[in-house]
Amino acid sequence: MIPWLGEEEAEAAAEAVRSGWVAQGPRVAEFERAFAAEVGAAHGVAVSSGTTALHLGLVALGVKAGDEVVVPSLSFIATANAARYVGATPVFADVDPVTGNLTPETITAVLTPRTRAVILVHQGGVPADLDALRGLCADRGLALLEDAACAAGVRYRDQPVGAGAQVAAWSFHPRKLLTTGEGGMVTTDDAEFAARMRRLREHGMNVSAADRHASTKPVLEAYLETGFNYRMTDIQAAVGLVQLRKLAPTVAERRRLAARYQRELADIKGLTPVTDPEYGQTNYQSFWVHLDERFPVTRDDLLLRLSDAGVSARRGIMAAHLEPAYADVSTPRLPATEDLSLNSLILPVFHGMTDGQQDRVVAVLKGLGGD
Ligand SMILES: *Cc1c(COP(=O)(O)O)cnc(C)c1O
Repeated sequence: MIPWLGEEEAEAAAEAVRSGWVAQGPRVAEFERAFAAEVGAAHGVAVSSGTTALHLGLVALGVKAGDEVVVPSLSFIATANAARYVGATPVFADVDPVTGNLTPETITAVLTPRTRAVILVHQGGVPADLDALRGLCADRGLALLEDAACAAGVRYRDQPVGAGAQVAAWSFHPRKLLTTGEGGMVTTDDAEFAARMRRLREHGMNVSAADRHASTKPVLEAYLETGFNYRMTDIQAAVGLVQLRKLAPTVAERRRLAARYQRELADIKGLTPVTDPEYGQTNYQSFWVHLDERFPVTRDDLLLRLSDAGVSARRGIMAAHLEPAYADVSTPRLPATEDLSLNSLILPVFHGMTDGQQDRVVAVLKGLGGD
């Protein structure tokens, strides 16, 4: 995936450098306000990555050692790791075979008296069914952290997915649609959560470094609890502000390319492209296709054929419970997760992709699976 970065971002970063204020400062504050508004949340707390956003989110929600946190195995491994950072135990739940997301049924199947929280993922940009999942967690008294790392520009019913989230964690890694190099954000409507996360990202200090510098009088800070250094720099935020303006056209272009793939691939037996669920709109950050037994070659063979044709596709989304890092978590079979992870692949979609480039991908797939 090629990020859409240009002269404007380079100039914004240079301006931050010339201003002399390179660490967390006014540009971070501005980026937080603009991003939170874009995703429909009252507060944004910028951090160093999507992973640190997930960690802070779990701390804010009060998840602790001894708690169980339900997570989808079908996700980038950082989702499950976040539970371990607070000393909790990740419990892997299966996903819907079509959307790749947790459902009330898959969560309910793994609840125990120790379950304290759920981390839902809008996988690859496909929105999870928020009403159903938020309703389940509210009914059961479970905290809900939304891993929105892939979800900038994703819509649930008539709103951005961040709207109404207890806590949502976003990533600005270059694989996502909006990038600051590395970076992340936690959004929430809860002013107390936001204030605590602001402190925690900055060593637990009760006065931010920016406020201390801005003050004309000496300010004596106190350290209220054990925090972290999870700050974003003003250089990153300057880039993020430019990227945020490109988000809507980026998503529109993704959706155009996705519609073209969907049209061209519709008649191939045994191959099912990802689509919008009835309740929302994906940003098509990842355009995956799932293969079933009617498709003439295996997923790995198809990856090879594509690579021979000069097309760089990637394997489908990983399954964390199959990785050595989680071999000690006893997990029952997760049929939909394993099927999606082993039998799907992600086709190229990137900024500036031409119809001709896309046609080359389609030609390989049709050559194998067409009539
Ligand atoms: C990318 C990603 C993360 C991690 O974000 P980083 O910014 O790379 O730390 C977490 N969860 C999901 C679902 C992701 O796709």
